[in-house]
Amino acid sequence: MSTRTPLVAGNWKLNGSRESVASLAKAIADGMAGKSCEVLVCPTFVHLADVQSVLAGSSVLLGAQNCSVEQEGAYTGEVSSPMIKAFGAQYVIVGHSERRAMYAETSDLVAQKAQAVQQAGMQPIVCVGETLEQREAGQLQAVLDEQLDAVVNLLGIGSMAQCVIAYEPVWAIGTGRSASSEQAQEVHAMIRQKLAVLDAGVAQQVRILYGGSVKPDNAQELFMQPDIDGGLIGGAALKAESFLGICAAAV
Ligand code: PEP
Repeated sequence: MSTRTPLVAGNWKLNGSRESVASLAKAIADGMAGKSCEVLVCPTFVHLADVQSVLAGSSVLLGAQNCSVEQEGAYTGEVSSPMIKAFGAQYVIVGHSERRAMYAETSDLVAQKAQAVQQAGMQPIVCVGETLEQREAGQLQAVLDEQLDAVVNLLGIGSMAQCVIAYEPVWAIGTGRSASSEQAQEVHAMIRQKLAVLDAGVAQQVRILYGGSVKPDNAQELFMQPDIDGGLIGGAALKAESFLGICAAAV
């Protein structure tokens, strides 16, 4: 692990009731008391207020899973970045592969969302990653270039220091099949190298998280890699014990 502060983020997706997310947040807050790792939980929009109250006074941070590019107006069903920020959120996940695949989010839209998040005073966690078909067709670099260039071109390389990147190979998400630590490190280094061509200092500052079937038993090996600065966790973030086990691997 480098001098960058590790971040472990839980993406709770479309899960939980008011009661269950409150008790999950409480268990994570209690488990993180006195620990130095930066830990973030991202509930659904409607659970932000409950989780904010539970996390008050704890070191665990709050984030959202998506946002609108718009600030306000006639956009039925949308939630803006300033609205999310008003609940004390500090991060918003943008461009998760589920949103790219199921809601047809393009890299340009993802970049606009990242910009809206920054304009509201929060940090975007920009998800990038290839499908198995793309990897096997030798398209990994081209996919990463397309996804990252949209964000870097819109935000500017200087603003990438206030942006977290999550490398999430689509074939590893929710499949139980994590990338090996060597595979993940190779891609994280590619991403950092790509940014370094534009600004070496920014490239050293940007945190790049790995996501895709991270569990307590593979987290340590992944997080030990020089360019892996923590994780974006799906399934294993829904149980306090497994999430805290992953957090423990990041300190
Ligand atoms: C995710 O959805 O971002 C994710 C990494 O999921 P999982 O940990 O379940 O693979």
